[in-house]
Amino acid sequence: MKRKPIFERKNVLVTGGAGFIGSHLCDELVKTAKVICIDNFLTGSEENINHLLKHPDFEFLNHDLSEPINLEDLPELKPFQIAFQGVQEIYHLACPTSPKEYNRYPIETLLANAHGTRNVLEIARKYESKLVHTSTSAIYGEPLENAAYPETYWGYIDPIGPRSCYNEGKRFAESLVVNYRQKFKLDLKIARIFNTFGPRMKLTDGRMIPDFVYNAMKGKDVVIYGEEGDTSTFCYISDMIEALLRLMKSHEQGPVNLGNPEVYPIGDVAQKVVEFVGTPAKLTYEPRLPFTARQGVPDISLAKEKLGWFPVVPLEEGLKRTIDYMKGMPAVTLDALRKE
Ligand code: NAD
Repeated sequence: MKRKPIFERKNVLVTGGAGFIGSHLCDELVKTAKVICIDNFLTGSEENINHLLKHPDFEFLNHDLSEPINLEDLPELKPFQIAFQGVQEIYHLACPTSPKEYNRYPIETLLANAHGTRNVLEIARKYESKLVHTSTSAIYGEPLENAAYPETYWGYIDPIGPRSCYNEGKRFAESLVVNYRQKFKLDLKIARIFNTFGPRMKLTDGRMIPDFVYNAMKGKDVVIYGEEGDTSTFCYISDMIEALLRLMKSHEQGPVNLGNPEVYPIGDVAQKVVEFVGTPAKLTYEPRLPFTARQGVPDISLAKEKLGWFPVVPLEEGLKRTIDYMKGMPAVTLDALRKE
C-alpha cells in the first residue's frame, strides 16, 4: 500500500549511516527530513554520528542488516509513526568497505550485499519507498586500458580473487535491485561510486588518503602500495553527497557513475599531502597489496546530463579540509582510531 507523508518531514532511512559517506549523508538529510540510521558498527564508528544522537529528527538503530528488521515493532521509532507515514526514501550504503576489511570480513561483506540488500529491498517494497543503492566502480574490475568507463561497460573481474567478496557481492546486489525494480515496479536507483575521500574516513582500513595523512602527520614514511606510474581519481565527500541527493530527486534510475574523472599520479597526491601537512616525510613505494586493485576512471557524462552534476571541489582543497579535520582530532583519539 502506498502511503503519502502525513507530516511535513519525510521519513528517510540510511543504512550504513555510521560510516564515512553515510554519516555525511545523515548530516545533510536531517536538515529537512526525519532520519533513521541503521548500522552495526562493523566498519563504521559511533564517533561519526555522536553529534546527531540528540537531534530530535534523528534515530540510530544498532542492527545487522543481514537479519530482517520490522521498523514498526521498534519503540524508539514511535515518533516516526512508520505504520501511518511509511518510509519515503532509503539510501542503502551498509556494506563493509575498505581494502583491508575484505580480508577481515569476507563473509560479512557477501551477506551484507545479499541478505542485507534483500532485507532493505523488502522495506522498500513494503512502503513503496524510493531507494538509492550505493554500488561501486569495483563492479568493473581491473581496468584493461586507460579509457574512462561508461555505465555500459560489463567489467573484467576475477570471481574468486582476494577482492571477490566485495566485487561479486556488489554485482549480485545490483542484480537484486534491478530485478526487484522490474518485478515490483519500484523506483530503485543505482549509484556506482568511485574513490571518494574526506573527513571521517577510517584510519585503519588501508585507503590511500587517510594513510598518507596519518603517516605524514607522524613524520613516518608515506608508503604507496603500487608502482611509480600508478594513477587514481579522487572525489571529495561533499561532491558525492550532492550527487546522491540529486540522484534520489531525479527520474534517473541508473546505474550512474559518480566520481571525479580527473586522473592524478598517486605519488603526486602523496607529495601534496606531505607538503600540506608540513613535515619532511619521505615517499616510498612497496608492492601492491593482494586485496588492492588498480583504479579505473569514471565517465560521468550520464550524471552530468541527467543529474546536472559534476564535482566542484578541487583535489587540493579536499586534501586541505581532510588534513585540517585530522589535525583537529586529539592525538590520543587519532592514535586509538588507528589501532582499532
Ligand atoms: P564505510 O565502511 O565507512 O560505511 C559502511 C557502513 O556500513 C559502516 O558504518 C558499517 O559498519 C556498515 N555496515 C556494514 N555491514 C553492515 C550490516 N550487515 N548491517 C548494518 N550495517 C553494516 O564505507 P563508505 O566509504 O562510507 O561506503 C558507503 C557505501 O558506498 C558502501 O556500500 C560502499 O561499498 C560504497 N562505496 C564507497 C566508496 C568510497 O570511496 N568510499 C567507493 C565505492 C563504493
